[in-house]
Amino acid sequence: MSSPQTHIPPPVEAEVPRRPARGQLADGREILYFFDAPLDHGDFEPPGDPRHLPSRPPAAELRRDPLTGEWVSFAAHRQTRTHLPPADECPLCPSGDHRATEIPAGDYDVVVFENRFPSFGPGQRDQVLGDGLGDTFPAHGRCEVIAFGAVHGDSFGDLPLERARTVVDAWAQRTAELSVLPGVEQVFAFENRGAQIGVTLHHPHGQIYSYPYVTPRTLTQLEQARTHRARTGRNLMQDVLDFELAAVTRIVERSEHFTVFVPFAARMPIEVHVVPHRHVADLAGLTAAERADLAEVYLRLIRGVDALYPTPTPYIAAWFQAPVHHPDAGELRLHLQLTSPRRAEDKLKYLAGSEAAMGAFIGDVTPESTAARLRAALRLVKGSPA
Ligand SMILES: [Zn+2]
Repeated sequence: MSSPQTHIPPPVEAEVPRRPARGQLADGREILYFFDAPLDHGDFEPPGDPRHLPSRPPAAELRRDPLTGEWVSFAAHRQTRTHLPPADECPLCPSGDHRATEIPAGDYDVVVFENRFPSFGPGQRDQVLGDGLGDTFPAHGRCEVIAFGAVHGDSFGDLPLERARTVVDAWAQRTAELSVLPGVEQVFAFENRGAQIGVTLHHPHGQIYSYPYVTPRTLTQLEQARTHRARTGRNLMQDVLDFELAAVTRIVERSEHFTVFVPFAARMPIEVHVVPHRHVADLAGLTAAERADLAEVYLRLIRGVDALYPTPTPYIAAWFQAPVHHPDAGELRLHLQLTSPRRAEDKLKYLAGSEAAMGAFIGDVTPESTAARLRAALRLVKGSPA
């Protein structure tokens, strides 16, 4: 059997995404400012944080479920976190004369800062996670919040193209930097949109988790990719992409560097994957041209999802990235999985007995019909100024 390294194509030119300006919040958390233009904003001095904040909570506790081998992080302090505050108490709005928020600047484009109520961290450390019954470990890692803009009521689809590009660059920069922290095994950038799926703040934002282990869904994908390689000698995601392109019916859109499709066995009423044409492990591995293309593709997809119904559709936009150290990591390709439980204008799919208890999904909508509806929705977006 060949080593997984032999499956990784030679790297395309390494291009470092734009550099952020770095500041610190009152309790020592790091905050980073990214700007739409110019690419390096050398003359911006991050303002200080005038607040008096309690010291940071200790790291959460990690426990392993012996029946499945899956890890659970217990962060008791998260019970007290901000939940659906009124707009004038939003912690992601810029600071003003009468109110200091999590973001000390009076205006911003894209900001990333360490979560005050993290599920992983604060602190990173290389540690061996044992499998003894009853063992507990500090949930090291890092959780960051990424705010997509200063305008409170916006959603991602409202952002101009240059802002979407800044967000993609910020994701790539964070992935590169977080992947080399001690003890970090996987970096996960995601956005939850809509109170129906647990969003606690109505300000356009996402999150970036750095896990101290490889997540269960990633482990499953690794095993499938490894088995496929052993059986066929080929990369699984490349074969999936070729299969979907040949089938045609589930393709939503295609750009120079990415294909958008509804997967053959979609689990959710709305499920869309965005896959790069080149085999690349994570957002940090994309070239500048690919990141520019991705910003356009992703923004159009979000606007297409927004055009499906007269009211905003809740969604989870999840960036699957190859883990940092796993021996089969070279088999995994960066991709987006966007899912929504919305199965009709006034109906949500709830994960009930079969899905929640057994992980066995029952589909309500065919993937082919979802793809057709998304294509039609994207035709409405076509004319909109990008
Ligand atoms: Zn706000």
